[in-house]
Amino acid sequence: MNYQSKKRILITGAAGFLGSHLCDRFIAEGYHVIGMDNLITGDLQNIEHLFSLPNFEFYHHDVSKFVHVPEKLDYILHFASPASPIDYLRIPIQTLKVGSLGTHNLLGLAKSKSARILVASTSEVYGDPLVSPQTEEYWGNVNPVGPRGVYDEAKRFQEAMTMAYHNFHGLDTRIVRIFNTYGPRMRLNDGRALPTFIAQALRGEDLTVFGDGQQTRSFCYVSDQVEGIFRLLLSGYSQPMNIGNPDEMTINDMAQEIIALTGNRSKIIYRELPVDDPKQRRPDISKAKQVIEWQPQVSRQEGLMKTLAYYKSLPNEKLRQQDY
Ligand code: NAD
Ligand code: UDP
Repeated sequence: MNYQSKKRILITGAAGFLGSHLCDRFIAEGYHVIGMDNLITGDLQNIEHLFSLPNFEFYHHDVSKFVHVPEKLDYILHFASPASPIDYLRIPIQTLKVGSLGTHNLLGLAKSKSARILVASTSEVYGDPLVSPQTEEYWGNVNPVGPRGVYDEAKRFQEAMTMAYHNFHGLDTRIVRIFNTYGPRMRLNDGRALPTFIAQALRGEDLTVFGDGQQTRSFCYVSDQVEGIFRLLLSGYSQPMNIGNPDEMTINDMAQEIIALTGNRSKIIYRELPVDDPKQRRPDISKAKQVIEWQPQVSRQEGLMKTLAYYKSLPNEKLRQQDY
């Protein structure tokens, strides 16, 4: 395939966990990938294996400022945003800006290039949900002025802005509502439950469960998430779509599973529950099954083994690093 005929895709948040896996996938599919990231929570090591490839380029840029990309663009994936509660509590204004101003810039870029754009939304738009499982029709239960509001409301604004560009300008848009996803390249110290528990177990420390550990989450392995996003982008579906694994479990059970998997003798210790921490979360994925014929393929056992193998392969000093 020559340079002109290759599909060109811009991926924001390219140096992050999901963004880097999406870069890999689109490179493997033969696209020309333009990665963009300001490295506020990302790490160039996640994409350094791509730098020597002719069909990959990288821009170090904050997408909350005007975004310019030379030449044509066929697709945009907007994944730039802090995603872990400790990150968006540490950088609340940047979180609000990338979800609002950043999204506006990328919608404008998509319009000027006549490109299709997919934005990364989140199960957090459902807040602390009063119904379970959560269907896309549920409007959510979000505290706008609580500590998580900076993330939840930025993502809700992102969805509203994306639909406005779709309805008013006829822009070709997609909205994916991502439920908790895990796998290799999550920062060990990003504060999310899974990398935190694995790091603690590997260091032989006790695992810090917040609250009574009876709150639930549903964990999706990264390759399943990437497949869902890939299919949604290429589908004709413009309404929001949940992508996640409906296999719901308590945080206590997840902590126990990780202790058993690592074979270490860590115990569980309990810490205060963060404000507005959702009590339950489980996606209804009927739409994804029906519209894009997608459902998760990777079992938790397999996904956790792969994730653990990745963390074990990291240099010892990374495992010891504890700046949270
Ligand atoms: P991550 O922190 O690993 O990656 C986010 C990337 O965005 C980082 O590389 C960061 O440096 C970059 N970034 C942040 N602000 C930026 C800005 N203003 N300009 C340019 N780059 C910027 O997080 P992740 O888990 O990979 O999440 C990626 C996207 O998926 C986010 O939009 C997040 O809201 C969404 N999401 C993720 C999950 C999940 O479980 N991982 C769940 C729901 C939604
Ligand atoms: N959690 C925990 N211990 C930790 C980190 C998180 O018990 O060290 C809990 C957290 O309070 C939440 C769940 O695990 O109930 C999932 O947290 P995470 O940050 O991974 O994702 P989110 O809350 O955004 O779903």
